[in-house]
Amino acid sequence: MEARILGSAREVGRSAILLKSSGANLLLDFGVLMQREIGFPAHVQPKDLDAILLSHAHLDHSGALPLFYLSDGPKIYTTRLTLELSRLLIEDLLRVSGFYLPFEYLDLLEMTRKTITLNPDDKIKISSFEATFYDAGHIPGSASILLEGGGKRILYTGDVNDEDTQLLRGADYEIGELDLLITESTYATEDHPPRSEVEKSFVEYAKEVIERGGTLFVPAFSVGRAQEIACTLSSHRFPYPTYMDGMALKTNEILFRHPEYLRDYKAFRRAINSVEVVTAWRQRKQIVNTPSVIISPAGMLVGGAAIFYNQQIAQREKNGIAIVAYQVQGTPGRTLLEKGLALINGKPTKVKAEIKRFDFSSHSGRSGLMNLLRKVKGSPKVLMVHGEEASCVSFAKNVREIFGFEAYAPKPNEAFQV
Ligand SMILES: [Zn+2]
Repeated sequence: MEARILGSAREVGRSAILLKSSGANLLLDFGVLMQREIGFPAHVQPKDLDAILLSHAHLDHSGALPLFYLSDGPKIYTTRLTLELSRLLIEDLLRVSGFYLPFEYLDLLEMTRKTITLNPDDKIKISSFEATFYDAGHIPGSASILLEGGGKRILYTGDVNDEDTQLLRGADYEIGELDLLITESTYATEDHPPRSEVEKSFVEYAKEVIERGGTLFVPAFSVGRAQEIACTLSSHRFPYPTYMDGMALKTNEILFRHPEYLRDYKAFRRAINSVEVVTAWRQRKQIVNTPSVIISPAGMLVGGAAIFYNQQIAQREKNGIAIVAYQVQGTPGRTLLEKGLALINGKPTKVKAEIKRFDFSSHSGRSGLMNLLRKVKGSPKVLMVHGEEASCVSFAKNVREIFGFEAYAPKPNEAFQV
């Protein structure tokens, strides 16, 4: 059996792994890299695939999948919620991103038609393999995928979070003996501060900004993070107006139809019912001057109403911008965080508003990933993917030293025998 890394070698983006065996060729995820231009994984012919398994809806895992449906693509297996959310995100990519994409809406429809959905913890036969989709705790619908077949056991973590959040239960699955572990490495070199402290300091900061007459802008991913922020404010009985805009609102509608994927559906409903919905430009122009919290995608400021909010909020000192998500290199969000610069009237301009980072991560930190490795039995090969270069390389070194496993930070298109 061979595992080839088609995409996310030493970067966060375009996750794609091809498993080739005498029994079947399976593709795990096929995502894009969202920077100034869209990056794709290495190509693979649809006719050479028996099936695709999708871990979760984020575009860096799902965004390139419609490419396979220009012709007769294989079946996709994923959770019911991931199908709905990835359809929402890919539709948005097609409609408003302004990127050139080598596929169109019809291909997305065909992809949807070819998708077989299941629930977390379901086991399903796929060609000569048996696949189990475990709740990964990362975003609603996300799964880690265990594959058993040809005498081998392979676990692909996808993106994983072992800690409970307001919105989701943390990943908590048994692993057992493995021959291959493909693990994400986003935060493999750092631990997150305790979540309760992050929540407390975020809510206090939101109050502080509003009480000095400012507006707090929270750019947040439409799937998961926007809802997590709303739930955090609600569970702390936040007394000031909170607005939510953009595609996060569509995600809310989808989540209302899938309560079983959430940790506490009633708390979610309470939180979403307490935010004010923004849909009109007149309203947007008004609220940027209203002491309040505004939650809006895109989480890395690459598009959506967030671009407008960021430009407006950036120009006043009493305002705040709360960065609550990982910012991929090369995105406007990363530039804002590292250099304090935003594009205002087309020019990179020093931001006057206060910029603060709050670690609302949906990925396990270093200890969480180490706990996952502690559950592994046998002596598997371990491949570190979905992390920046330094993170993947140092994670592999740590795992070699601590566990004695053969661990690698793969290079693009590198293949490993299992
Ligand atoms: Zn993700």
